Amino acid sequence: MHIDTRLVHTGRATADQSHAVNPPLVRASTTLFPTLQEYKNSYHGRVFETLRYGRSGTTTTFELQTAMAQIAQSETCIATASGLSAAVAVLAAYAGPGKHILVSDGVYGPTRIFCEKELVALGTTITFFSATDDVEQLILPETSLVYIEVPSSLTMQMLDAVTICSAAHQRGIPVACDSTWGTPLYFDAHALGIDLSIHAATKYINGHSDVMLGLITGTHAHLDAVRIWCDRSGSHVSPDVCWLALRGLRTLAVRMPRHQENALAVAEWLCTHSRVKQVMFPVLPSDPGHALWKKQFSGGAGPFTFELQSCSEAEFEKFINALNLFGLGTSWGGFESLVMPVIPHYLRALKTQSDAGRLVRLHIGLENPDDLCADLAQALDR
Ligand SMILES: *Cc1c(COP(=O)(O)O)cnc(C)c1O
Repeated sequence: MHIDTRLVHTGRATADQSHAVNPPLVRASTTLFPTLQEYKNSYHGRVFETLRYGRSGTTTTFELQTAMAQIAQSETCIATASGLSAAVAVLAAYAGPGKHILVSDGVYGPTRIFCEKELVALGTTITFFSATDDVEQLILPETSLVYIEVPSSLTMQMLDAVTICSAAHQRGIPVACDSTWGTPLYFDAHALGIDLSIHAATKYINGHSDVMLGLITGTHAHLDAVRIWCDRSGSHVSPDVCWLALRGLRTLAVRMPRHQENALAVAEWLCTHSRVKQVMFPVLPSDPGHALWKKQFSGGAGPFTFELQSCSEAEFEKFINALNLFGLGTSWGGFESLVMPVIPHYLRALKTQSDAGRLVRLHIGLENPDDLCADLAQALDR
């Protein structure tokens, strides 16, 4: 069955009882059991998949997890409180004293900080690697996980996930990937060999800028340690959030092609502007990551970065403040366009970049691209 059909029909099993299209929103701290035997049985089922206690989810949570597992063509899915908490759960589950984790150096900033500050303090060694490093050479006997993100946050660099997976799998090491940018629609993570796929569902999966949510897909075997870690650390997602995300998910296959089309139109327009030094967007044939993008993705998303010609901070401020259609704020994946200055702290991969050029991250929403280009044009003229 095609993914657009699956997006519509999965995760609706409990809707039958109420004769509604959507599954009911079930809020609960206590789950009640009719008999002692059923109460006992609940503790034999898998946590976050079995009714037990509100913390481990209600039927609304399970509907979302089932839908996401089917959409990503994976065995199972665990929902967490945010995209960052999903990344943290995966990393923490595979970390431990004496263990070694390989992490691609362009990962989402807070993910990198978790590795540097928390995992290292707990006795795990972290090696950050770049797109040009040979991962096979960096694997140690104590390596427990390879963690990547494609494309890298903000710098938009591509990695070859297939090569990395085959190097890791040869040594029996699982690979986790932050797949937020591509979504299951454009990035078939498990088909590429990725074992644990992480999504900040806050972004496109919910798609309406109004919830925080993380989703992790993979096999039961690969997610076992993650599930245990989530259970022991009190991980929980509100059923309200799961209900909203299920509603957002239904239109993913309609929203994404429009984000792609609009982002490409705006990126191409920016490439021709005299005040723009470079546009970092692997969907552009001129981008150094274009071939790898084409090999691994079936489409492109709305966020990309561009560099302005050198300008003063005051000029930069004028440009950002003059934008009318681009909201100034963190995050992306909603229906609306956003702008954000790129904080150089996270840009270790671009150490050689001159300070004079200023990096801007855009998220291209569902507006008409002509209006977006016109807005950028008037702001760049300031
Ligand atoms: C936003 C984002 C996250 C974090 O998700 P939150 O839900 O905001 O915690 C993780 N990875 C990537 C690539 C992101 O863009």
